[in-house]
Amino acid sequence: MKILKFGGTSVGSPERMKKLLDIVNPAERQIVVLSAMSGTTNNLVEISNALLKEDKKKGIELINTLKDKYDAVVAELLPESVESVEGDFRAQGQEVVDYHFNFLLSLANNVFTAIEDKVVLAQGELLSTTLYHVYLKSIGVPSVLLPALDFMKIDEDNEPVIPYTTENLTPILEANPDTNLFITQGFICRNSFGEVDNLRRGGSDYTASLLGAAILAEEVQIWTDIDGMHNNDPRIVKGTKPIANLSFDEAAELAYFGAKILHPQSVFPAQKYKIPVRLLNTMEPQAFGTVISTESEKGKIKSIAAKDGITAIKIQSSRMLLAYGFLRKVFEVFERYKTPIDMITTSEVAVSLTVDFTDNLDKIVEELNSFGSVELDRNQTIVCVVGDFGAEKHGFASKVLDAIKHLPVRMISYGGSAYNISLLINTDDKVEALRSLHNRIFE
Ligand code: ASP
Ligand code: MG
Repeated sequence: MKILKFGGTSVGSPERMKKLLDIVNPAERQIVVLSAMSGTTNNLVEISNALLKEDKKKGIELINTLKDKYDAVVAELLPESVESVEGDFRAQGQEVVDYHFNFLLSLANNVFTAIEDKVVLAQGELLSTTLYHVYLKSIGVPSVLLPALDFMKIDEDNEPVIPYTTENLTPILEANPDTNLFITQGFICRNSFGEVDNLRRGGSDYTASLLGAAILAEEVQIWTDIDGMHNNDPRIVKGTKPIANLSFDEAAELAYFGAKILHPQSVFPAQKYKIPVRLLNTMEPQAFGTVISTESEKGKIKSIAAKDGITAIKIQSSRMLLAYGFLRKVFEVFERYKTPIDMITTSEVAVSLTVDFTDNLDKIVEELNSFGSVELDRNQTIVCVVGDFGAEKHGFASKVLDAIKHLPVRMISYGGSAYNISLLINTDDKVEALRSLHNRIFE
């Protein structure tokens, strides 16, 4: 069985929804995971924000505007009231839309807390999947709509519980042996209290990979509107190419940088359960895309990626020399302020590290000051070269450094894994660094 996930733009209009059947083969047994129609989750966030601020008038206005859009979708997606045995599909679609928007209005008219906020955000995926299900019925394609809230769950630490999905989804699939096409919602789940929750923005990819893991799917396909992961940033560098094959380890290194094409956490369930993930382009279904799997060419550089908005922090202290426990104390400060550290380099008497979440930086620096002198460099960019550097252990670092020898480098991190060389540079030098690395490595 395969899992196919379609993002917001792939279901962004009735026309695009109808085109899904160019890709989805109703004769193959599969689960189709849908996002909300593009723009909807953003609209729902606005609605929720208004209601959290107790601006009921604005909330209701926004709900009505969004409803107009869905009324139009129903009119375009579903055929005119024809009296068939199955009933009137346009009326069924309208009923779905009325139900969800009346529900939103009822939320707007009651006490609104963080719990209702999550419920509001869930409506986008509930709408897109239910409407698509009615559409399939209207054209005579049999399908079963699976309620993700019955089998997608996160625990107290917001970690998905894959065994729960296996346990609750398997019986439903077994109860429908003659169904090929299952439709379900991406993004939404229940939390440890049983409340409606979600897997964070962009989380539909994560749903697909969790489902793939839970039922040991043959493959997970993520359909977007780019032809796979590219070997460099196509907005900056000319002549980038899609990477045909990536190992899970390489994809995990890139996930931090490639969040736009793939939700970063999506790699891990697939990796753990060895389910290949294929990134494909809805606009160009024949293109090979990118396959993330256990198989990937060894001893090759695969991709160059960059992330801006990085701050480097250097802590210099003679107390670090021949001492143990120093780094633990430093790390504990970051832990207390829930701030992830990305890159680290150390010398005998100093440690440099980078963060991209800076909300608590002032407090962190204040505490670090008690260990030694602290220096900050803002407006930094991590440039990361990913590939398999294990097989042939020489030459990679020098190639990378040679390509950027004309640029100042603030930090270099190599050997953390066999798949990554990271460099920290001034953001002003990023374009030049990406182009120069590309020429040296791929041209
Ligand atoms: N609809 C959700 C979002 O916009 C989830 C997704 O599209 O992946 O974040
Ligand atoms: Mg996405």
